[in-house]
Amino acid sequence: MPILSVDHVSKRFTKGVDIAGRIANLLGADNREQVVRAVDDVTLDIMEGEVLGLVGESGCGKSTLGRMVAGIMTPSTGVIRWRGKDVAALGGAERRAADLAVQMIFQDPMASLNPRMRVEEIVGEAPVVHGIVEASQRRDYVADLLVRVGLDPAVMGRYPHQFSGGQRARIGIARALAVKPKVLVCDEAVAALDVSIQAQILNLFMKLRREMNLTYLFVSHDLGVIRHIADRVAVMYLGRVVELAPTDALFSGPNHPYAQALLAEAPRIDVRRKTFAAIKGEIPSPLAPPPGCHFHPRCPQAMPVCREGRPPLLSVGPEHLSACRLNETAPSRAAAAL
Ligand code: SF4
Repeated sequence: MPILSVDHVSKRFTKGVDIAGRIANLLGADNREQVVRAVDDVTLDIMEGEVLGLVGESGCGKSTLGRMVAGIMTPSTGVIRWRGKDVAALGGAERRAADLAVQMIFQDPMASLNPRMRVEEIVGEAPVVHGIVEASQRRDYVADLLVRVGLDPAVMGRYPHQFSGGQRARIGIARALAVKPKVLVCDEAVAALDVSIQAQILNLFMKLRREMNLTYLFVSHDLGVIRHIADRVAVMYLGRVVELAPTDALFSGPNHPYAQALLAEAPRIDVRRKTFAAIKGEIPSPLAPPPGCHFHPRCPQAMPVCREGRPPLLSVGPEHLSACRLNETAPSRAAAAL
């Protein structure tokens, strides 16, 4: 059974009519609320102990999906399941346990750490509040966590501004670990760090995975990071998952033309530090996504049928799904991709 399931989940944001628009409406204009479908009917499972990478260009909905998985946002429609149970339908202790079991690690540790609190309070507050550790034991508990993330316990009396970016990232990880989570949702968790520090933090994530049997949803725009850390990868485009595959299968033979374009632009020997270069054409506005396959205005292989209806995710290999009409006309093309 998956540890977490995302079942037909969508997230909509409504953009209201501003003052200028309302005044224009008084003069006869027809400005209306607009709806952005940041996440559009996404279904995927996260298996216990795996690292699932979530990649896509800025604005594709990957961070919104990560926040829904972490319980920070609620889906507009669809269900998030924790060990098979609808999280929204859980109550009492069961809900609290499910909430604590999934923790989020953010891109900017400085912004997510209270500057007025010492490390001991930052890391030790939640486990005391939730009864995981007695207040009298907090100091020892925090010291153990700091050692686990590679920090000297002697620093627990300091404030966040007294640390480097890498050290603050470690404090953020210690804070997440303090409530004994099973899943970490990492949203661009190493993007703000220097390359050498990135490698250290990625290695720390992998060490913690081994030691604590953690599961990760790793949201990143960085193909090098995802290739290094993920077991499987979901590629998102304009709110939809367009390809889902084991990491090796995706990097050796991407099926969807969008994923092919991304990987074709990545350097072959060392894909680290590679961000998404411009693929032909602009990303369409999420306020008015193109009909059919959202990628069709930029796709070199687009066909008339691509403008009609959403392409379904079809199997194109072992545990490998892709949402492209070409697979309906030539299913064997997966093997020939790139
Ligand atoms: Fe390109 Fe059509 Fe496939 Fe979309 S469905 S990626 S437009 S070929």
